[in-house]
Amino acid sequence: MAFELQFFGATERVTGSLYVLTAGQSRIVLECGLVQGLADEEAHNRESFPFSVEEIDAVVISHSHIDHSGRVPLLAKQGYTGPIYTHEASKALCEIMLPDSGYLNEKEAEWENKKRGRHGKARISPLYTREDAEACIQQFHGLEYESPTEIAPGVSLTLFDAGHILGASVVQLEYEENGDKRTLVFSGDLGYRDAPLMDPTKRLDHADAVLMESTYGDRNHRPVAETIEELATVFKAARASQGNVLIPAFTVGRTQDLLYLMAEHYEAWGLGNWSIFLDSPMGISATKVYSRFRHLFAAQLFEPKSDYPELPNLYATRSVEESMTINEMESGAIIIAGSGMCTGGRIKHHLKNNIWRPQCHLVIVGYQAAGTLGRRLVDGADEIRLWGDSYRVRAQRHTIGGLSAHADQEDLVDWYSCFKNRPPVYLVHGEARGQRPLLEKLRDELKAPAYIAKYRQKIVI
Ligand SMILES: [Zn+2]
Repeated sequence: MAFELQFFGATERVTGSLYVLTAGQSRIVLECGLVQGLADEEAHNRESFPFSVEEIDAVVISHSHIDHSGRVPLLAKQGYTGPIYTHEASKALCEIMLPDSGYLNEKEAEWENKKRGRHGKARISPLYTREDAEACIQQFHGLEYESPTEIAPGVSLTLFDAGHILGASVVQLEYEENGDKRTLVFSGDLGYRDAPLMDPTKRLDHADAVLMESTYGDRNHRPVAETIEELATVFKAARASQGNVLIPAFTVGRTQDLLYLMAEHYEAWGLGNWSIFLDSPMGISATKVYSRFRHLFAAQLFEPKSDYPELPNLYATRSVEESMTINEMESGAIIIAGSGMCTGGRIKHHLKNNIWRPQCHLVIVGYQAAGTLGRRLVDGADEIRLWGDSYRVRAQRHTIGGLSAHADQEDLVDWYSCFKNRPPVYLVHGEARGQRPLLEKLRDELKAPAYIAKYRQKIVI
């Protein structure tokens, strides 16, 4: 039987997931993500796909994060008209995230073309536009967890809760030919066992081959109880210094985790003394999707019959005018805004108004990639530039490390250990630094046939 997989993305790196599965006569694309990072790496997004679009029968996406879904509009723009399968909550999140990604592409091309115009160079077109992204949503098929669906002759797809962000799935693909059945399990991105909001990751006990993410293959996260203590200390200090608190946050996942923790620790953290602003149109829309699919997690985030968390002093500021009223507040505001790495979005405006004030506090709760403004702030820069002006950094900085949406080494080893037959496991979605220690652990402790997936490598399942 022909059941084969080839790796084309997220091999020895974290972003740009792309795998192609052959099942008999059918070809299935598993993940179609954007490469994210420095400019020369992102240039890979413009390369042609390593297959011809006409031969693809189905696309499967594990979750809405752009490094897993962000090249889907490009695939559709290049002529793919077939179905795109994902969880129904991931479909709802893609409906807001992919057009936003299209909009960012347009802005980026506009900026690049201005520069090119000055040098007499040819113009470029956006990778895809907002309109392209909106059009491809028609091709999405939203599935429920644990309901097998035939997506090609002999190929059955089942999604399981990955516990990472809303809708994130572990992908099981079964192929049957002449009474012989083979099973591939792809972890997608797995959640952290201590995650405040999401349910635990579903464990499976059988596969013929496993693809597993390895983002944090080299380390264990700090217990969430310590993070809760740290946040309590930050809010207490901020209250005493009578300033504002800025929290740059990823709009899907981290923002909702924070809102949940704030509601849960409202009294202990003295949050009644503050006005809390969710100052992000994307964050507000994503929170509404979480509300619509609240049955997918056991934790109680929302008030009954409301799209907003149980925080009496939470203000969702969608319009620019509403957002600008926050500028008048010199103290007493907790501001959650995107982007998570301070590379764009409204957080930059709030930095401009607050970062030079010693009574203000900047709380970093997410990963900050090299080269971003967020990373420079974490690394202790004493001056930053915003729209051509420089600002002294006098606000107090806090880096809170324990709020990860990803499994750590202990979680990854434990998740794989549930496969009783010890199938071959290929590590994807990780850098070599994180993959090596995980590989050794899997081989030594579980006697697992473990490998680091290589670019263009083909495996027979
Ligand atoms: Zn993810």
